[in-house]
Amino acid sequence: MTESKETSEGTLRAGILAIGDEVLDGLVLDTNSNWIEIRLAPLGVEMHRLVSVRDNLVEIGRALKFLMETCDLMITSGGLGPTHDDMTLKAIAQAFSRDLVEDPKALIIVERQYRDLYERGIVNSPEITESRRKMACIPKGSAALNNTVGGAPGVMLEIDNVTIFCLPGVPSEMKMIFEESIVPWIQKKGTSEFYERVVEFEMRDESVFSPIIDIVMKMHPDVYIKSMPRTYGTSHVLKVWVSSRGSDKETVTRIVDDAITSICHETGLEARSSR
Ligand code: ATP
Ligand code: MG
Repeated sequence: MTESKETSEGTLRAGILAIGDEVLDGLVLDTNSNWIEIRLAPLGVEMHRLVSVRDNLVEIGRALKFLMETCDLMITSGGLGPTHDDMTLKAIAQAFSRDLVEDPKALIIVERQYRDLYERGIVNSPEITESRRKMACIPKGSAALNNTVGGAPGVMLEIDNVTIFCLPGVPSEMKMIFEESIVPWIQKKGTSEFYERVVEFEMRDESVFSPIIDIVMKMHPDVYIKSMPRTYGTSHVLKVWVSSRGSDKETVTRIVDDAITSICHETGLEARSSR
């Protein structure tokens, strides 16, 4: 675990842990993970592992350790709320032998949010009950992250050189904390640039294309290419994603453009922009 998990260009590797019985029972579609994945790519972060677990202390702890094996950045969603089944922070405390301590900044957020929710008629009382106070108890050494949408603060902590962000399950709260706390953290880390173009080729047989992918990826080792056949009415096209990561925007853009030119040359076909 001491070896660097970052790729050669210094790309951060991310893991997502979606926590909640409702996700595994199929009652809630895990849109949080999908949203985070889509948001991480242009920030130059490589998604590495995605795990979902039930609201269970042991399962959450095991999953965190699994993600930590290969990730530098871990994002959990769900289980930060006031109810007994919200146990993300307790699981972290237990798995990494940290105490849960009441955090003054977290308590200010919880108090402010419940006063605001009360004034807007969303909750019946602004009182900080035991279950609400629980949301201000975070693992020792971690930082509370502002939540201006709901009651539970997000949490950031570092364990063995891995940075863990814990976000609430409610999508609007999760997105707010992601944008306000995680994006600046990633940008400060100065991670690599990511560039992707999606193009289409008039081609019905993917098997003809796959050796061309190999040839072009050998010609342009910093490029990643994936393809998927699409049918529109009676016409068949191959949708192709061409992407690259690197230290500067200009280089990755040029590498991707060059790779698409090579695909056109190898196939003898024209590339049509797909988005
Ligand atoms: P709260 O403070 O509201 O309890 P929480 O952090 O405890 O927030 P959960 O109780 O785990 O979050 O989830 C709250 C709601 O958020 C769920 O009922 C569900 O509607 C939604 N949700 C949870 N996880 C996801 C997910 N992975 N994708 C989309 N929606 C989710
Ligand atoms: Mg909850």
